[in-house]
Amino acid sequence: MHYLFEKKFLKHIQQLSKKNTLFAFDFDGTLAKISKNADKATLSRRNHAFLMRLSCLAPVAIISGRGVDDLKKRIDIPDIDLVGNHGLEGIHRWKSKQMKAKKLCQQWLRQLKRHHLGPGVFIENKKYSLSIHFRDSKNKKISAKKIADTIEQLKPSPRIIHGKCVYNIIPAHSPHKGTALLELKRVKKIKKIFYVGDDDTDEDVFKLKSPALLSVRVGKKNTSQAQYYLQRQSEVSKVLETILSFF
Ligand SMILES: [Mg+2]
Repeated sequence: MHYLFEKKFLKHIQQLSKKNTLFAFDFDGTLAKISKNADKATLSRRNHAFLMRLSCLAPVAIISGRGVDDLKKRIDIPDIDLVGNHGLEGIHRWKSKQMKAKKLCQQWLRQLKRHHLGPGVFIENKKYSLSIHFRDSKNKKISAKKIADTIEQLKPSPRIIHGKCVYNIIPAHSPHKGTALLELKRVKKIKKIFYVGDDDTDEDVFKLKSPALLSVRVGKKNTSQAQYYLQRQSEVSKVLETILSFF
């Protein structure tokens, strides 16, 4: 992993502005600061303004674990593609996969209701995936273990994506952030993709290893497959500003 703002790498961003590039970003922990209360997460005015300008110059997408309706409340920018539920929602061709996912989530919800997951644990139904949050639990270790044990009993077995104080449950083998990006690339006849994310779920993009992709992780992590890293979330503003300066 290389630090994105090392001088010798800046030319790679510069080249992207000359090519037909999709600029794509995760939301929580990337465009928006991680908020203790996930419902309060919001775009800073600065990032909102930068994204607005960028969306007039190039295709822009936001790909998040949140549902699309939730994203719409937080991002009021026309002409940006919003993809939710870790890549499953917002891609037109995947309607039947979404319907299957919706049914599975209802099945899992019924099974989860038979268990008492303890105080401070909250199940968020995102229609096509579920998130079990334990940020408010007083004993996070016990809650995490209890949730993990319960998820193990779910039938059929879901794919589990770990987040910060949250277990995300999505249908196994459903499209993910990586496949969503490739689908956007295909539909929009894009040549290059620039992607920034911060979490395990973004590894689905980082591991694509496509020559078309320039990938950036917020925070250095040796096991990540991203090519570049930023030191902290606040540097995302600088990334947007730098991209804009090259147009
Ligand atoms: Mg994130």
